[in-house]
Amino acid sequence: MRIEDPKIVAALPDLGVQLKPGTSLAELTSLGIGGTTDLLQINKHEAIPDLLNLLDAQGVPHKFLGGGSNLLVSDGELPWVVLQLASPTPDIVLEGNFAQVDAAADLGRTVTFCAKNDLGGMEGLIGVPGTIGGALRMNAGAYGMQIGSYVRQVKLYRAAARKLETLEGDQISFEYRHTSFAPDDMMLAVKLELPSKPYREILKGIRICNEKRRASQPLGQKSAGCIFKNPPGASAGRMIDELGLKGLSVGDARVSDRHANFFVNAGKASAKDMLALIADVRERVEKSFGVILEHEVVVWNA
Ligand SMILES: Cc1cc2nc3c(=O)[nH]c(=O)nc-3n(C[C@H](O)[C@H](O)[C@H](O)COP(=O)(O)OP(=O)(O)OC[C@H]3O[C@@H](n4cnc5c(N)ncnc54)[C@H](O)[C@@H]3O)c2cc1C
Repeated sequence: MRIEDPKIVAALPDLGVQLKPGTSLAELTSLGIGGTTDLLQINKHEAIPDLLNLLDAQGVPHKFLGGGSNLLVSDGELPWVVLQLASPTPDIVLEGNFAQVDAAADLGRTVTFCAKNDLGGMEGLIGVPGTIGGALRMNAGAYGMQIGSYVRQVKLYRAAARKLETLEGDQISFEYRHTSFAPDDMMLAVKLELPSKPYREILKGIRICNEKRRASQPLGQKSAGCIFKNPPGASAGRMIDELGLKGLSVGDARVSDRHANFFVNAGKASAKDMLALIADVRERVEKSFGVILEHEVVVWNA
């Protein structure tokens, strides 16, 4: 979608919003799949309510992009614009055991920055790409930990109230790859409380997690991490593997040979290919195990 409305174009500079016309989402997503649209980069949190009021008033639909590492986006010209936060400097401020982190901050860099300052707990998240905002939205986790355990406060734009608000940790529920945020809430910053731990001990944990990832995941290939959530008490990857589906492909969309719940773009896969592969695998798992797998990957279907 192109922003051509002169009222919007004229208002953007005052709102501190940069228009990036015709942005390819294939270039901004780890799967390397996705069509083209205008991207609005937001530099000031305070401008968000005015920006969204303006877009809504002019009938411009929007979606919110973090680091693009958990997304499958449709092909072609997309019928909505994409909003993305610019990262301020500094994007992480430490005070005792608290880390105040901007939502646009890179998750991996946050983990290592905190580690170097003797703050641990998030070792399992090393190797998870994307932003802090995306990690909050999905309650990213791995190896028995999840980011939600450390969240004490979140600053966000609440779409229902159309204003910026601050929620305390106990006002938010974090479950397995699910949070109580409304779908159109926009996370802007978080205060994490992290346990003190000497850097060299944290580093040991980080190395173990890195090893586990290297041994089990197709790290050099384009993916969005796990395609399906694990159903209660079961592993989606194990079920797909037991059906012998590693290597199954539709066009260049392929079930990874290394990890059956990672689907990779082995070349020029389209969203259509990837969606067909996901639907096929889901149907086979349901037929054989009677389990309906739920998407972990977020699908932006045009
Ligand atoms: C190789 C690989 C390994 C991975 N391993 C793991 C893993 O171990 N554990 C795990 O949990 N995930 C894993 N993932 C998935 C992914 O990295 C995480 O879900 C990550 O937290 C997504 O963050 P993002 O910024 O990239 O979000 P995006 O992909 O950009 O967006 C995902 C969703 O979050 C929303 N969103 C993003 N930012 C915000 C914000 N600030 N406010 C509101 N909504 C927002 C988007 O609208 C979208 O709905 C892996 C992915 C890859 C490619």
